[in-house]
This record gives sequence, structure tokens and C-alpha cells, in this order.
Amino acid sequence: MRVEKRWWFAVLLLGAMALFHFLDLGQYLNLATIKSRQSDLEAWRAGQPLVAGVLYFAAYVAASALSLPGAAVMTLAAGAIFGLGWGMLIVSFASSIGATLAFFASRWLLGGWVQSRFGERLAALNVGVAREGGFYLFTLRLVPVLPFFVINLAMGLTPIRPLTFYWVSQLGMLAGTFVYVNAGTQLARIDSLSGIVSPGLLGSLVLLGVFPLVAKKIIDMLQARKIYARWKRPARFDRNLIVIGGGSAGLVTAYIAAALKAKVTLIEKHKLGGDCLNTGCVPSKALIRSAKFLSHVQRAKEFGIESASAEFDFAEVMERAQRIIKAVEPHDSVERYTRLGVDVAEGAARIVSPWEVEVTHADGSKKLLTTRSIVIAAGARPFVPPVPGIEQVEVLTSDNVWNLRQRPDRLAVLGGGPIGSELTQAFARLGCRVTQIEMLPRILVREDVEVSELVTERFRSEGIDVRVGHKAKRIEVVDGEKWLIAEHEGQDLRIPFDALLVAVGRSANLEGYGLEELGVVTGRTVEVNGYLQTNFPNIYAAGDVAGPYQFTHAAAHQAWYVAVNALLDPFKKFRADYRVIPWATFVEPEVARVGLNELEAKERNIAHEVTHYGLDDLDRAIADSEAHGFVKVLTVPGKDQILGVTIVGEHAGDLLAEYVLAMKHKLGLNKILGTIHTYPTLAEANKYAAGKWKRAHAPQRLLAWVERFHAWRRG
Ligand SMILES: Cc1cc2nc3c(=O)[nH]c(=O)nc-3n(C[C@H](O)[C@H](O)[C@H](O)COP(=O)(O)OP(=O)(O)OC[C@H]3O[C@@H](n4cnc5c(N)ncnc54)[C@H](O)[C@@H]3O)c2cc1C
Repeated sequence: MRVEKRWWFAVLLLGAMALFHFLDLGQYLNLATIKSRQSDLEAWRAGQPLVAGVLYFAAYVAASALSLPGAAVMTLAAGAIFGLGWGMLIVSFASSIGATLAFFASRWLLGGWVQSRFGERLAALNVGVAREGGFYLFTLRLVPVLPFFVINLAMGLTPIRPLTFYWVSQLGMLAGTFVYVNAGTQLARIDSLSGIVSPGLLGSLVLLGVFPLVAKKIIDMLQARKIYARWKRPARFDRNLIVIGGGSAGLVTAYIAAALKAKVTLIEKHKLGGDCLNTGCVPSKALIRSAKFLSHVQRAKEFGIESASAEFDFAEVMERAQRIIKAVEPHDSVERYTRLGVDVAEGAARIVSPWEVEVTHADGSKKLLTTRSIVIAAGARPFVPPVPGIEQVEVLTSDNVWNLRQRPDRLAVLGGGPIGSELTQAFARLGCRVTQIEMLPRILVREDVEVSELVTERFRSEGIDVRVGHKAKRIEVVDGEKWLIAEHEGQDLRIPFDALLVAVGRSANLEGYGLEELGVVTGRTVEVNGYLQTNFPNIYAAGDVAGPYQFTHAAAHQAWYVAVNALLDPFKKFRADYRVIPWATFVEPEVARVGLNELEAKERNIAHEVTHYGLDDLDRAIADSEAHGFVKVLTVPGKDQILGVTIVGEHAGDLLAEYVLAMKHKLGLNKILGTIHTYPTLAEANKYAAGKWKRAHAPQRLLAWVERFHAWRRG
């Protein structure tokens, strides 16, 4: 219905425009006609000033709303007929109202379509318009590089607020309106439109137009100077860069800075490698590997093995995770980074001024270091919610769960996100009776519903008690028995447990190292701009402490930007590009994603097509007894351009790499289809998904003709 209305409206508009041209009304809107009719028009105004004013106003609004030519002549005529004061008043309001109507028409007719079709690509522009749209509009109004009707229509397609559009337009057009209305008061002396605006006047308008942008830059610079005012800047610096935190973000930042021959100090208070190596990715994946082995033993019959069993010591499996950490550790060691040219300082860092960082070593000694730039890469820590009674039990988190050597019999896992889900399945496979408790209606809530359903189904088939829609209310300890009381559909349910693992999210590390004292702006994370600068332009942040993603590879990606920006600013800066960030959740079936999923595409009203290829069809998956899951590709309607991919199944994280490359380098599904994939591999699934898309887009008409051609050839 809405679409129909729009069509009618578009037809009406086009009809009005066509009528204007058909009746050749433009002939009345040229300088010669107005000049020849000037005395009649003046007499008309003198006879009925109010009617003349109102009609002229309405005609002007209509002409600008319909984007008709002749605005300049009408503005001149307003000066000639109504004089400078009334002419200004009429034209200023009529042109702004008309422009706003054109803006609304463009937004209503095409805005939704443009944003849904090109929203992803327009994202940066949208952010820019939301932030500085008013400034740009003001400049465009003053500097006549584009016709006004183009500006009205184009602005309607951006997310600028209508009120902002209106008042900035009115303000921005004032100077030009004045020039033309004023010239109109001397209409008899004007011979051509081009003579009205002299090069000098044009230059002044350009300067006036650029002024707000320049002024904003100056204000930004002054604000930056103001926040530095409290501190005395050292005359020279000992180093170019100090990096606080030796996790994924900090290590890569320091590495890049050293590779660029900068003098860089990396300060780590605990262990190089940070969360990923010591308490995150590495031990969790080691544990998941052991658990997967056990699950295969359980599935022996599926592989044609009559019976298989495994005896294992829980403590030994946990020790293996530590051995894996030790094996990976050399990659992140002090020795390696020192060899790479990084000055590694072991101790706790505290920022004492925008250019000074104090390091406190384990023996209590302190050292003050000076630097031109600082990168905050202090990471995050598990968030433990203040559930009443939680203090009565020992809380396991991703920080300390690795110390477990005795297997808890009943493990309650609070949290249905990636970390909670990975640990739930791993510990269940290691013999714990696990209850997973999630407040939301499903686990892995960022993924599409069918993904959550597949994983939940698998968890339940492995004996995991998945409780979704359960809100932890309190913890009780009664006669030594521990209970988690969870509210579910208005009822309190009691879940007994021996150990409680909390994995409900991770909070950025923001306290205790000088951010508050310095005045670095923080919210849930350190607040940064597109260049990853904090409110102190020489202090940057990357990784979990900055967000928005909490992945090792996202931290490493940001690290490149902070290192290069910190070293090159003010000469050159790069805006962090988050367009293609992949991730995987290492449960079974594995879940991997890049770009949009269906949920997000619908939420953001982005037009898309879905191609779904089931892995139950894939030879290798069948041979491996892993014929479950799917590859789901979202594409731009009618095109092979990939908007996002979700893969669920064996080695989904690895399979995704091909799509990540394709999206990053703008390769479409046709390119994937035209690439040879080794038979029989799981990776062939990507090609088959592309093939499925191709079949759905086969040119049916052409094929019908081809069929006739073949029939003709057969005689
Ligand atoms: C269980 C688990 C599994 C995970 N699995 C994956 C996965 O499979 N894939 C993935 O991509 N991501 C995974 N992650 C997330 C990943 O570990 C983090 O995104 C990544 O470690 C963030 O790196 P970072 O450098 O920002 O922070 P961190 O690794 O936390 O490093 C911050 C460092 O700063 C140090 N520090 C803090 N304050 C100071 C100070 N004042 N002075 C000196 N040093 C300081 C800390 O000691 C720490 O070493 C997992 C996380 C967990 C918890």
C-alpha cells in the first residue's frame, strides 16, 4: 500500500514537472520577460500587496519544491516587485520551505531504498553526515558548486535531520539571496544573470562557505590544546611510543612500531601474550581439542568401530592446556620481542601525563618514561554480575578456571555467549554434568535463530542441560549444598551445582592506571574516534579495552592503525576499517561468520537474498560422518556481491576464510564458482553454495532460446 502511494506521488510530481515544460512556463521565468513586465508586476503588488505577497510566496515554494528552473530569476523579480526587505523575507522563507519539501519528497520516495540497498557502503558517509552534515550543507549552500535542487534531493537520501536541513539551508542561502534580491531592486540595470555575481563576490562566498569547516578544525585544535594545558610537555621524548599491555593488541602494536624503526617500549604487568595466550583462546582451544577427541570416542559406532573407550585424568587434560600455552609462549616472549627491536618493560604502567608513563617493577622500583604517543592496550576481564549470594561460592571465570585440577561433578555455567558455550561443551565432554543458564531466549544470540537452534540441539543431544530464558536471581548455600535460583517464566527454579562458571561478558580494564586522573574519556570502554584516538589526540587505544569487537584478530587489526597513526600523526592518519571482521565460535558444530547475517540485515532494513547450502549434501562431510550444518550466504539482490556469510559445521572457521578474502577484495560468488576447489574437501561447500546461487539466477529466457537452438541443431 505504502509503495503504491509512493508511486502515485512520484507520478504526480513528474506530471507537474512535465506540465511545466509542456506549457512552456519557463518562458515567463527569464530575465527579459520579467524586465518587460516589471511595471505591470509592480502595479499588481501596489494594488493588492497581501495577495501578491502570498501568491508569490506560494509560487516560489512550488517552484523550488518541484525543482523547477528559474529560482535565480524569481529571486531577482522578488527584489524588483517587493523591494529588499519584503523580497528577502519572502524568498528566504519560500526557498527554504520549498527546499525542505523537495528534501522530504526525495527522502520519502527514495531514501529508504537507497539506504537499504547501499547502506553498507554508505555507512561511513552516514556517520560523517550525522556528525558534520550541518557544516557540509552550509558550505554547499554558500559555495555554488552544485545546483540547489541537487543538494535538496541528495540530502534527502542521507540521514541528516530535517530540522537541521531547514535551518542550515535558510542560514546558508541568506548571503546568496541577499545578493540576488538586492540586484533585483535595480532590475532595469541588469542585462544578464551572469553579471550579478562578480568573481570577487563569488570568492567571498567561497571563503564564507569554507569558513565553518576551517573554524571547526580550529576549534578542534584549540580543544585539543586545552586538554593538554594542565601539563608541561617535555622538550624532547625518550621514545616515540609506549604501549601499555602486552596482549594481542599491544604485542602487534609494538611489533609494527619496531618494524617501522620507531623507539617503542611495551609495558606488561603480568604475562606477555595477555588473555589470548594465557587464559583465553589458547587454553580454551587446547581443552576443546581434548574434549573433541573424547566425543569421537563416544561416537565410535558412527565410524564403524564396534566399541571404544577412553580413560583419562581430568587434571592431566588441564595440564595439557598449560603445556600448549608453554609451547606457544615463545611466540610472545620477551626475548622474541626484544630481538624484534621492542624495549619490553616488565611492570605495571600508570599514565601520569599525556607524555609520561610510570612503570612500577615487581621489586617496587619505579621508572618514569617519556614518549610522544601512548597506546592503551590494557585488555578486559571477566564481568561477574552482582547476583545476591554469589560471594558464598568460589566463582570460576575464564581467568581462573584453568587452575581446576579436580573435575567438578555438577557444573553450572552462567552465560550463553561464545565463551560460555565453548566451555560448556568442553567440560560436558570431559565428564561434568553441565547446566548452561542463559537469560535471553536462546544461546549465541548474535547469530541467526537457526544457528542457535542447531547448537542447542547438539548440546542437548550430548546431555547438556541448556536453560534459556532463565535469569539468575540468587545463590544459596544450604547445608553445604549450592543452589542457583533462576527465574523462568515467573517461577523460581532451583539448580544445584558443585562449581559455578561465570561467562556473561568481559569488562574493559579502565581503572588503576591513570585514565581517570588524566581525564581520558571512557564509557564501557575507552572512547576512541575513527582513528582510535582518545580525547587526547596522542593517546590511542586498541583491543578489548577499546572494543567494539573482543577478538584477537580484531585487536591485531586495530594494532596496525594505532601503531601507524601514532607514529605518523599529524602528517597522515588512517581510519580503522571494520567492514570485514570475521569470527568463529568453537563449539560443535562450529559457527563462523563474516559480515551480515539475516537477523542484522532485517533489523537494518538491508535488501538481501539468501543462498542456503546444506552440508548434508557434501561428499567429504558425509565421508567424515559430519554431514550437518550449512553455508548461508547473503548477497545483494540480483548481484553476486556478498553481504555476509554464516557457516555452521565442521571446520566452519577455516571454511570462512575464502569468503573473508572474497568480501575484503570485493570478489563475488561468480569468482568463487569459477575457482577450482580440491575434491573431496569441506571447502567445496563454498563452491557449491556459489553454484546454488548461480542456478537461482540462471537467465531462463536465454536458456529457453538455447534449448531451441539445440533442438534446431538436432534437426
Ligand atoms: C576463554 C576465552 C576464549 C577466547 N577465545 C578467542 C578465540 O577463539 N578467538 C579470538 O579471536 N578471541 C578469543 N578470545 C578473546 C581474546 O582473548 C581477546 O579478544 C584478546 O586477548 C584481546 O587482546 P588485548 O590485547 O586487547 O587484551 P589482553 O589480551 O587482555 O591484554 C591486555 C594486557 O594488558 C596488561 N595490562 C593491563 N593493565 C596494565 C598496566 N597498567 N600495565 C601493564 N600491563 C597492563 C594485562 O596484564 C594484559 O596482559 C577469547 C577470550 C577468552 C576469555
